[in-house]
Amino acid sequence: MGYVFLGPPGVGKGTQAKRLAASRGIAHISTGDMLRGAVKRGTPAGLKAKPLMDAGQLVPDALVLEMVDDRIGEPDAREGFILDGYPRNPKQAADLDALLEGEGRAIDCVLAIELPVEVIVPRLSGRRSCTKCGAVYHVTAHPPKVPGTCDACGGQEIVQRPDDREEVIRDRMRVYAEKTEPLIRYYEEHGILVRVDGRGSVDEVSTRVEEALQGAGAA
Ligand code: AMP
Repeated sequence: MGYVFLGPPGVGKGTQAKRLAASRGIAHISTGDMLRGAVKRGTPAGLKAKPLMDAGQLVPDALVLEMVDDRIGEPDAREGFILDGYPRNPKQAADLDALLEGEGRAIDCVLAIELPVEVIVPRLSGRRSCTKCGAVYHVTAHPPKVPGTCDACGGQEIVQRPDDREEVIRDRMRVYAEKTEPLIRYYEEHGILVRVDGRGSVDEVSTRVEEALQGAGAA
């Protein structure tokens, strides 16, 4: 099974993609996480990506394609995969189609998570994460139990992503509207798009994701 999560930054794609991957036993492939990993390790790709990521811009298509190509070929992605944050523009969507076709694979369902912009900005600007394990928190909605200490791994650095600063969030939203949103139409035309209301709790949205997949015959 191949799924894609689509939607503006801050709609909960990552959270839902992780949950679905765990429940299905398939690979969660987040290009944002992979790029942040490359930045942290200081690889050539990471060095190239960092200034663009910090500014809320997309990194070059070829760089991301290479990462996705490698990752999708790993053993845990053989049974299935969930792409989170990829594709991000029409060129990447075409690259992905070609990549999968070459392997006799396909995307079964694209889940577009929808959320009003006035909900997104406070969600993102309050988001914090553990530098050690990547667990995600929110300053008011979901703070760690012990302030400054990660619930999951005990890590002591709970930080804001550089691109979650309010001035960068606006740029990311603009990039989304201009480059990524057209993909909704693209996948709709391919008959594989389902829309999911992103409001409410994580559990509520997970239930809607499951219902949407059942309804689409892609569960
Ligand atoms: P995300 O964690 O998905 O919000 O991604 C964080 C940042 O990583 C984005 O703002 C981009 O700079 C970069 N990035 C992630 N995925 C892609 C992609 N598919 N294409 C280009 N840049 C990406």
